[in-house]
Amino acid sequence: MLRVKGLSKTYWAKDGEVQAIGLLDFEVAKGEFVCIVGPSGAGKTTLLRCITGLLAPSKGEVYVAGQLVTEPPAQVAVVFQDYSRSLLPWLTVFDNIALPLKKKMKLREERRSAIARVLKAVDLVGFDQAYPWQLSGGMQQRVAIARALAYQPEVLIMDEPFASVDAQTRADLEDLVHQVRQDFNITVVLVTHDIDESVYLGDRVIVLSQKPSRVKDIITVDLPHPRDQNATKLLPQFGEIRSRILKEIRGCVVEKMV
Ligand code: ADP
Repeated sequence: MLRVKGLSKTYWAKDGEVQAIGLLDFEVAKGEFVCIVGPSGAGKTTLLRCITGLLAPSKGEVYVAGQLVTEPPAQVAVVFQDYSRSLLPWLTVFDNIALPLKKKMKLREERRSAIARVLKAVDLVGFDQAYPWQLSGGMQQRVAIARALAYQPEVLIMDEPFASVDAQTRADLEDLVHQVRQDFNITVVLVTHDIDESVYLGDRVIVLSQKPSRVKDIITVDLPHPRDQNATKLLPQFGEIRSRILKEIRGCVVEKMV
């Protein structure tokens, strides 16, 4: 579903060039949930911008569903970290979700039923006429997830989606994303700096090195489903994967300091 091939990205800044991505190669299968972790500044956001067609790679290519990405692909929807800037405050929840659908779903009835379905999936039935600013942070991020799902993407890209909410809301949203992934049979690529989150959510975790980033490790997370915030995190295998990733990321930071 997603192929990142020989990707590298160099920025040209005022004081010289910054090679953010050294060389990345990986694939994500249809229906898979892949988490990407790496030290701060490893080029995770840069990678997502290349995948979503917002930034052209310096070298290499990205393919979504077999097609070379040269502009934002129709099959991809994105959920950003900052829900307060991604939702339009002057539009209701319904209209926020409806906005990107207008081109894809011409009939109002079709849009209505798609929106009803996703509001149910994110447990926001009855909030369609509320404005984003009337909702809590967790609820706003659920609206952003609903908007992405209503678009019926094949790939859902999430950039640190739970970094701006409190710990309990974060756990609830993680479980919600697990559920919608199953219900909507969708491919998910999620970037996070939270190692526990990557192990809890992912089928695989891709660990990036410090910039210029490379794939340092790809770990298959063979933990049973359904996952549970308490029971899963107590499994010895969870702890083993977690500490493997932690060592790899700490190694990066130490390498950088030396
Ligand atoms: P991450 O998301 O992993 O923290 P980023 O992709 O944001 O990393 O950034 C990777 C590196 O590229 C950083 O060193 C950052 O300063 C640099 N960088 C990001 N965007 C730009 C830009 N527009 N111009 C110059 N350098 C940039």
